[in-house]
Amino acid sequence: MNDPSWKFETSAIRIQIPTTREGEHSTPLYLTSSFIFEDAEEMGEVFAGNRDGNIYARFTNPNVDEFATKMAALEGTEAAFATGSGMSAVYVSFMTFLVAGDHMLSTREIFGSTASILNNFLPKSGITYDYIDLTKPEMWDLVLKPNTKLLYLETPSNPGLAIFDIKRISSFCKSYGILLVVDNCFATPYLQRPADFGADLVVHSATKYIDGQGRVLGGVICGNRDHVEKVKNFCRSVGPSLSPFNAWILSKSLETLAVRMDRHCDNAHKIATYLADHRQIKNLRYPYLPSHPQHELAITQMRQGGGMVSFEIEGGLSAGRAFLDGLTLFSRTANLGDTRSIVSHPASTTHARMTVEDKLAVGITDEFIRLSIGLEHVDDLIADLDQAFFRLKNK
Ligand SMILES: *Cc1c(COP(=O)(O)O)cnc(C)c1O
Repeated sequence: MNDPSWKFETSAIRIQIPTTREGEHSTPLYLTSSFIFEDAEEMGEVFAGNRDGNIYARFTNPNVDEFATKMAALEGTEAAFATGSGMSAVYVSFMTFLVAGDHMLSTREIFGSTASILNNFLPKSGITYDYIDLTKPEMWDLVLKPNTKLLYLETPSNPGLAIFDIKRISSFCKSYGILLVVDNCFATPYLQRPADFGADLVVHSATKYIDGQGRVLGGVICGNRDHVEKVKNFCRSVGPSLSPFNAWILSKSLETLAVRMDRHCDNAHKIATYLADHRQIKNLRYPYLPSHPQHELAITQMRQGGGMVSFEIEGGLSAGRAFLDGLTLFSRTANLGDTRSIVSHPASTTHARMTVEDKLAVGITDEFIRLSIGLEHVDDLIADLDQAFFRLKNK
């Protein structure tokens, strides 16, 4: 079932593969590595691509298809292909569209493992890259090369919550025939649909808000039919497949994405407001607070401010670590977008493999703290932050 006139919540809940003759209400889990055919002729036709059908779970699986179909509908793209993790989605988006001799551009404000792909693995394939400062349009032409084929960005970025103008960047990319890839992990399609602003491919770590409960890894690449067909062909050979079980979890999770995001945003906005006049922190970032440097852009590009808040704590690395240790409710862990609130220290964890210069260039100091605000009662979260600040002050 899939009706293009449905609104977001209805698509997220009602897009479903056909029921079996058991008449189940919830989609069953298809744990099978291959699929059988009536006869040799049918088998040949499906293999040749002349007829639809499942062949082998590295290519397709009904649970994976349901999840990808939902993601395409929610992102407003023609098609989508799901992968085993966010990083495989990012890597596949590069390797499907770039060949040796090509050049790509990326913002500096990117996830640590994405930076590691650029630094350590693209050069092995003969692909070069440069960072581009997307806040300075007058400089964009200067980093372009005749072989520039792709531009990659995250908005809001992990962990600094920088916001970039997708519409403006996409018109720049279109005028030079450059493929624009946007990592929409922090916003989810509920808060922002990059394809509506002209992005060619939208990639996700579904591990984060899409699962939303800290259980499984997953990734997805959304785009037009032609682009997604190329992604599919690449993945069919390379095999970064999403497991049916994880796809089943992720498709179920999408049913509650809208209500979860509303609460994540509501809690995060209240916590950002509480932190706004706190004297033990500086450089507070929350896209929906007027103090955010790209606040005006955030309110036009995003439906709400998201569930992530970041700031720097006064007192250096030891204060940063003491603050983390002082929290009792927030989990000290590397994930984000969970029902459980999470505190992390990117400089020594998720972004530790970035060079010191790269970290400092995007504001990841030893004092930098990232909060992923969960779905607990906001009063309990504020009480926990309060007692951690109090302990720090009286250390
Ligand atoms: C976590 C994350 C990824 C990587 O996703 P995995 O599912 O962990 O492989 C990519 N981009 C961003 C912005 C992320 O936060």
